[in-house]
Parts: sequence; C-alpha cells; structure tokens
Amino acid sequence: MTEPAVVIREERQKAVLRRHPWVFSGAIRTVSGDPADGDLVVVRGERGEFLARGYWNSQSAICVRLLSWDEDQPIDEAFWRERLRRAIAARQPQNRIATQGTPAAYRLVNAENDGLPGLVVDRYGAWLVVQALTLGIEVRKQMLAGLLEELLQPAGIYERSDVDVRSKEGLAPSTGLLAGSPPPETIEIDENGRRFLVDVRAGHKTGFYLDQRENREIIGDWFRWDEQAAEREVLNAFSYTGGFAVYALGGLARRVVNVDTSAEALKLARRNIALNGYALDDDDFVEGDVFSVLRYWREQGRQFDMIILDPPKFAHSARQVESAARGYKDINLLAFQLLRQGGVLATFSCSGAISSDLFQKIVFAAAVDARCDAQIVRWLAQASDHPVALTFPEGAYLKGLLCRVWK
Ligand code: SAH
Repeated sequence: MTEPAVVIREERQKAVLRRHPWVFSGAIRTVSGDPADGDLVVVRGERGEFLARGYWNSQSAICVRLLSWDEDQPIDEAFWRERLRRAIAARQPQNRIATQGTPAAYRLVNAENDGLPGLVVDRYGAWLVVQALTLGIEVRKQMLAGLLEELLQPAGIYERSDVDVRSKEGLAPSTGLLAGSPPPETIEIDENGRRFLVDVRAGHKTGFYLDQRENREIIGDWFRWDEQAAEREVLNAFSYTGGFAVYALGGLARRVVNVDTSAEALKLARRNIALNGYALDDDDFVEGDVFSVLRYWREQGRQFDMIILDPPKFAHSARQVESAARGYKDINLLAFQLLRQGGVLATFSCSGAISSDLFQKIVFAAAVDARCDAQIVRWLAQASDHPVALTFPEGAYLKGLLCRVWK
C-alpha cells in the first residue's frame, strides 16, 4: 500500500526544509492516496523527493503538522514513546523534585516545541493533565495516555481539551478522565516551596499558570533586600488564584491587593494565601474589571509600591494586534500613574501576536504619557519548562518587563 502523500509547491518548500512544523493549505499542490483526517502523510517536493512526514487534517488551515524530517523514521508507537521520553527527560530539575515525593507542578510536553505538535501535558503532583489541541492528537489520545502511564505511572490522567483553538481543527471541546483515578477537587501542589490548590477540572488552562513560575519567584524576591519591605503595598492585577500574591507576601511585602473578574479565582486565592500562613483583609480581594478599578483608584489618588499586570491574552490573532495594543497601553498607563516614587511595575503580555519589541514600545508609550522615568531591570519570559523550538518562533508567547519607575 502506498503512503498518502502531499506535494508542496516549489516556492513554499523552504519552510518545510527549515523544519517549521506547519504546512498551510495554500502551500499544497496535490494530495494523493486519499488520507483520512488524522492519518499520517508523507510530504514531498514537486520532483517527488522526500521532505518530511506528519499528520493530516483537511478541516484545518494547517493541513499537515510535521513530525519527522528523517525518511527512515517510521511514525509508529515507538516514535511517540521516544518523543514523550525525550520531552520528559528535558524537565530537570523538576523531575528530580517530583521523584523525591514533592507534589511538583510543571509542563512535561510543550506541543510543537517538543516535537509533539498539538499535545500539551502538565503534571500536578501525582496527576497528569492533557490537552489535545489538534485532530491528529485527538485520534491518538488514548494511545498517548497509555504511553504516559507506562513512562510516568501517574495516579490518573485528566483531559482538559476545552480550548478555542480546537474549533479551528473541526473539534468540539472534550474533558474528562483518560486513565487511572480521577483527580481530587483540588490538587495541592508545591511550587518553589509555596503551596497552591489547583482545580484541574474547572481552573483556567490546565488549572494553573505554570508559565509564570520563574517570574513569580523573581518578583517575589523584589522586596527581600528592602528595609522598608514591611510597609510595601502591592497591587496584583489579574490575580487569578493568587500566585504572585503568595510570593510577594513571602518576600515580606505588607499587603497585596488582588483584582480579578472571577469570583471563583479569588476564592481560591484566599485559600492559597491562608495555606501559606499569610493573612489579608477582605478589602484585599477585589472582584472587578482591572480597567475600571484602576481608573477609580487613580481618581481616588490611591498608590502602590509594586504593580503586577498579568492580563489574559488580548490579541488572539494578527488582526487583533491594534486593539490589543490599545488595551495594553491603557492598563500600563494606569499602572504608571498608580505607582509611588521609586516603585516597580511587572508587566506581561501572553499574546503571541504581540512581539516583545512591540510590547516594549507599548510600555514605553505608556510611560511617556504618564510622564514617568522608567528603566527596565529585567526582561521576563515563559518558564524553562515551556521551551521554544528554534524552528518555531511562534512558541515564544509570554513576555514581560520588570521596570523601576520615578515620577
Ligand atoms: N497572574 C496569574 C495569572 C493571571 S491570568 C497567576 O500567576 O496565576 C489572567 C486573569 O485575569 C484570569 O484570572 C482572569 O479571570 C482575569 N481577568 C480577565 N479579564 C479581566 C479584567 N478585565 N479584569 C480583571 N480580571 C480579569
């Protein structure tokens, strides 16, 4: 039986040769062998020469996700096992911490960036949470769950494929237990010695913003050498379940005010802060829209020593960049205005469509409008368990700036 094959237009071959993992429909000249969606295909040049292998989905603008550029490499169960093993092995020191019995939480598989397009696997203590982002992974998810059981012996594997990008693949959301025993209502994890309760069933993404782990530690340390730490007030805008708050309190800040639109997230933030032995007032948990709450506080003349801005993705595509840029500028301007003399701004964007250059320009424009002097102390990015394949710059989505600010 001949393998289904996709022939790439001559002028579009370069991306495949450079090992970019996506083949768009416009790059395809012909398809032969009638592949079903999810099937493996061989990708060839116009003269029939082998270029790569991947999985097919006619319903997606990205028709093929490439898996291998080695003609002699069969894409069988051994291939998937080896790719998973390689991704998992790359997660030191977290694996070491986990095997010593600490309920560590980190990303084990970061999709395209780990040579496993469409697959995300996060570990929360004894449980794994999986996202199948593409049809090619959807049809293989039971096989992949079996391999993950074999490689890691988790207590259970839970699926959280309730993400918008699935609709671009012709897939409905899918959640539930894939293997083993169901996770408890909240899983208690240990992140750099801090404790957090994670709701892997209903929390955002797979339950926790693991990509901010290293930034939480950097920012939490800010006041460690500050003799006035005990007077410092922090505004944790877009707080979710209090990740940055727990670290800032551990770094001896007096007070952290958390703002989020989600009552559920704030409820868990309270529990997380208590779990780590800190106490905050009811006023320190504000259910509201950051744009209007910050505007109100500006009118009131309220001020903070540190402001953390970690908003959700404002730009979901290139078309939304302009409106997203206005949103980022707006909140950053408000933050500059709300900071005390010598204060610090930790500002983030997780929009892949906003480059880190553009983000820096937006923050710069906000500082100019706020008539502040600001300096960048550190450029921040996603944690190291969210690596970026050199062939796939789209994998770098989280960017942040840590800025010191004078009025
Ligand atoms: N910093 C957090 C993650 C933030 S995710 C952490 O380290 O865990 C973004 C959060 O912003 C989500 O919790 C979401 O509920 C909240 N959110 C989205 N739009 C908002 C808005 N306009 N005002 C306040 N919160 C908002």
